[in-house]
Formats: sequence, structure tokens, C-alpha cells
Amino acid sequence: MPINRRVTGALMTARVLVVDDLAPNVKLLEAKLRAEYFEVLSTLSGEEAIEIAIAQQPDIILLDVMMPGLDGFETCRRLKADGTTCHIPVVMVTALDQQADRLAGLKAGADDFLTKPVQDVALFARVRSLSRLKQMTDELRHRHARGAELGAITVGNMDEAEDGESNVLVISDDPIIDGLNSDADGLPGRVEFEYHTDARAALETIRVKTPDLIMVDLSLESYDPLRLCSAIRSFEGSRLLPLLALARETEMRRLVRALDIGVNDYLMRPVDSQEMAARVKTQLRRKRYVEYLRESVHESLEMAVTDPLTGLYNRRYLGSQLPRLFRDAHDRNQPLALMVLDVDHFKKVNDTLGHDVGDEVLKEVAHILNLSVRGIDLACRYGGEEFVFVMPDTDKATAETIAERLRGQIAETSISLSNGESVTVTVSIGVAALDPQNQDDTPQSVLKRADDALYKAKADGRNRVVGEAA
Ligand code: GH3
Ligand code: MG
Ligand code: MG
Repeated sequence: MPINRRVTGALMTARVLVVDDLAPNVKLLEAKLRAEYFEVLSTLSGEEAIEIAIAQQPDIILLDVMMPGLDGFETCRRLKADGTTCHIPVVMVTALDQQADRLAGLKAGADDFLTKPVQDVALFARVRSLSRLKQMTDELRHRHARGAELGAITVGNMDEAEDGESNVLVISDDPIIDGLNSDADGLPGRVEFEYHTDARAALETIRVKTPDLIMVDLSLESYDPLRLCSAIRSFEGSRLLPLLALARETEMRRLVRALDIGVNDYLMRPVDSQEMAARVKTQLRRKRYVEYLRESVHESLEMAVTDPLTGLYNRRYLGSQLPRLFRDAHDRNQPLALMVLDVDHFKKVNDTLGHDVGDEVLKEVAHILNLSVRGIDLACRYGGEEFVFVMPDTDKATAETIAERLRGQIAETSISLSNGESVTVTVSIGVAALDPQNQDDTPQSVLKRADDALYKAKADGRNRVVGEAA
């Protein structure tokens, strides 16, 4: 049966290691995989498979069970015990009737199964689904390494998430499908199955409370199962949810269409509970990785724009936002003012009270600044003890009033220190505003004028506000 290229090869190039002691079996799998543009490595022995896996780091390993020397189980155990290969998904290739082999495979750490003779649909569905999972884990492993290197990104423990509770929504005309149950060996954490016989009601349910995984029975008669899969895929809330098809031997053509629509993988009916556990586990893990990566991207973006000491935006962020704020002010013909604020004699605070106290003082000044921030303002730590406060829709006179109020607040605040003592500091502030008459007025020139005003405030005796020279 021809497999649509879109769902198999072209999108996903993965490097597959085929391990089988019989050369014709290897040749057959090689040919099938190459035809779909997968890169294929192969070997006839378990021992060599381990060497190749360590040296070449394939994306997925197809492992025969019955081999002389190291058999598939032992090879799998060793691959999973080695830190350099344990993250590579292993698919055990078992004989059709060897139910016991599957259990043994799971115990040895295998991620999924294929039965001989290997069918194209099964082969590509498994390879594709497991390579997607691997892409996620690779990305995470990469970030772990980089994050640890930079001491920046805090990557929590994914294993904890594996013990959580998951909700699987099953849509089928059968109120209960044989073999699907929540106590199958090897399921991650607690898995609750929720059965729906009404596809429309199920779609509603998916909209209001997103499940962790959806299974659609391709034998569904009360509703077109392919239309259902496509509806699940087109709805924003479930677009990326793991979707498994339940199929019978007679439904292979429909299954291929389903995989083409975006079903992630499938289970044959009657459902083998070990296979179910393997496939559900793969899909749930991938979903968790996706969510986790999304959060960590969010976190690292946040970290890239904020100053860790004060929580204010950093100078880089100011630089990226000022041009937009200026353009916006020009376009709307609105004023825009900014102030540069510098702590007076801050060096003395550090020298007499210590650097840690200096840090506490900076945090408190930032805190006071933060209390004055409106939604459209931008407060940032510009340098050591220097802050910039940008106020859209604010003219110079108003900005000077705000600056004066801030100056007074800071001078009056007795900053309590963690050592029980307290200290007061003063600030000098320079204020400048965008010249609405001058289309060429840039962020740099306004910042420069505010800085010059600040310099004057320092020269005039500190603890004061100076507006830019008219
Ligand atoms: P002026 O009134 O003229 O601004 O005097 P100043 O002492 O505040 O100015 P100066 O620029 O000479 O010194 C600023 C000091 O701020 C020097 C630097 O060690 C200190 N500093 C910069 N960043 C930090 C920080 O993150 N924490 C602490 N504790 N000190 C910092
Ligand atoms: Mg200073
Ligand atoms: Mg300074």
C-alpha cells in the first residue's frame, strides 16, 4: 500500500538503526525506510548495534528479539543502561504470536513494538511517532546542558511529571473497548479513560476540558471518523493534542487517511494492553515535553529581558522597545518623556556598608520606581545604579512632576536592611521629552539630553530633578 509522503518521509528525516541477525530481514526494512527517505544504518548483531548506537547516535533503533549472542532483550537492556544511548527510542520487532516477548521487551525498557512481517503503515507510524518524541527529548537534553553551562535556565525534573494523572478521551460506538483499561502495565502515572459514543458531545467536551490524549475508533458509524479527526486537528485547543486511532485489520486504507490527517499513531483492535501502554506512554510523554519546552521558552525569554536583581526590564529590552515607543508617539502625535535616575554617592554605600547592602538598596529603589509604573510605562535598570523610566503620552512638565515625586519618595524612605539596620539614599534625575516638532528626534538623542540633565543635577548638588535645557 502506498504511504503518503507527507505523513512519512519528507517532513521527517530520521536516522534509523536496523538490527536483525537475518540479512534478508535487514535488507527488506532498509529498502522500505530508504524509499521514504529515512537514513538507515544496519547491523546483524546486538554487540555491534550497541557500538553503532554509541558512535552514530541514531534517532531510533529497530531491534529484532531472536538473535544469537546478545538477544534483543539484553541488547535493549544495555542500550537503556548506557547514559549515551538511553534516550534513543527502541522498537522491538517480535513474532506475531509472541505475547510474552512484548512484556519482556517492556521490562527490558523497549519503547514500542512491531510484529513480523512488518507492515508499512505500522513501520512508518512507529518510526514517525517515536522520532517526534526524540526531537523533544533532544531539545530538552540540549537545554539542560546549555542551561547548566550558563547557570541560567532552570530546567525542572521531567520525571516528576511522568507520575501525574492523565485523561484519555475515547470516542467509539462501543461503550467499552476490550483491552483498554487503566491498569495496563507500564502506563505512566494514573490514566483515566473516559468513553464517548456521541462524537458531537465529545467534541464539545474537548473544547471545555482538554484531555491529555484522544482515541478515535475508525469503526465509528454514528459519525465520520475521519471528519472527526480532522475537526479535532483544526480546533485550536486540540490541534496539538496526541491523537491515536483504533483500527481493525479491514480498515487499513482508512487508517492511512487518518495518519495523513494528523493522527499520531494507532492501535489495532482487539487492543493488546502492552502495546496500548507503550503507545499511550509515548504520546503522553511527547505532550508533556512540548508543554514543558513551551514553558521553559517563556521563562528564558522572560530572563533575557529582565534584570535578575531588581526584576525590572534590562537595558537590552529598553533598546528593543524604545524605537517602537517613539514611532508610536510620532504616529499618534502624542508626547513621550523619559527620565534617567542615578543613585547619589552609591559607591559610598558599597564602601561603608558592603556590596550586599548596596544590592538591597538597589532593590528598594527599583521597588519604589515600580510602584509608579503605569501599564504603558517602561521601567528598566539601565546600568549599575542607574535607571531609565519611559513614559508614553506624558509631556515634559508632567514628567518633571512625577520625577520630583519619585525623588521625594526615595529620599524619605528609610530602607530596612536584612541586618536590622536602615539606611536612606537620594537620587538625581534628568528629564527629557520627545520633540514633537522634530520628526528626526531619536531615542538616542532624547536619552542623551536626559543624561546631560542628570549630569547637571549632580553638578548642582544632587538629590534634585533637572529638566533638559530648553
Ligand atoms: P554619583 O552620585 O556621582 O552618581 O556617585 P556614585 O558613587 O553613585 O557613582 P559611581 O558611578 O562612582 O559609582 C557607582 C557604584 O555603583 C560603583 C559600582 O561598584 C556600584 N554598583 C554598580 N552595580 C552595582 C550592583 O549591582 N550592586 C552594588 N551593590 N553596587 C553596584
Ligand atoms: Mg550614582
Ligand atoms: Mg552612576
